[in-house]
Amino acid sequence: MSSIQLHGKTFDTYLSEAEIQQQVKRIAGELSRDYKEKRPLFIAILNGSFMFAADLFKHLTIDAEISFIKLASYKGMKSSGNVITAIGLEMDLFGRDVVIVEDIVDTGKTLHQFLPKLEHQQPKSMKIASLLHKPEALQYPLQIDYLGFSIPDKFVVGYGLDYDGLGRNYKDIYQLALGF
Ligand code: 5GP
Repeated sequence: MSSIQLHGKTFDTYLSEAEIQQQVKRIAGELSRDYKEKRPLFIAILNGSFMFAADLFKHLTIDAEISFIKLASYKGMKSSGNVITAIGLEMDLFGRDVVIVEDIVDTGKTLHQFLPKLEHQQPKSMKIASLLHKPEALQYPLQIDYLGFSIPDKFVVGYGLDYDGLGRNYKDIYQLALGF
């Protein structure tokens, strides 16, 4: 097992590039089958999903569109808790078959808060594709329709995922080493 160091912390290889690519191709195959003739609109959530989204998109064999958005949360003036806004959401979702592309669903809070905003635009359908999911950490009800891997509740980096800005460039996925 090889490991990497980021900001002085050690991460061990957890999912290899080959394992990741196998799952990405499988999901792309399922999407190509399910969305034939539908010209789906993929909405990839930056930053973490950029690699997954790019690889997934490369393997689609149907007509499809993709757009990238960034979520920003800020404290509302009156309401308690954070308000999530989407930066770069310019297209009209009305009547579209939408697929949200995420790197990882952890507590589910981000998507749970954000999806109603998209549903407000009345897409024809909306599904979620996530490379990773930590079932033990899930706190908000969320159905992941296309999933790469269910993983334990441990911090991971690589393949687009960062630790404080670093680690996104690795082709494999690494897990925080025990004892750190
Ligand atoms: P949620 O709202 O589901 O709790 O969190 C989702 C977001 O938290 C992900 O899009 C990702 O940015 C971040 N996140 C959750 N778990 C991890 C992890 O293990 N590693 C990294 N790098 N980011 C994570």
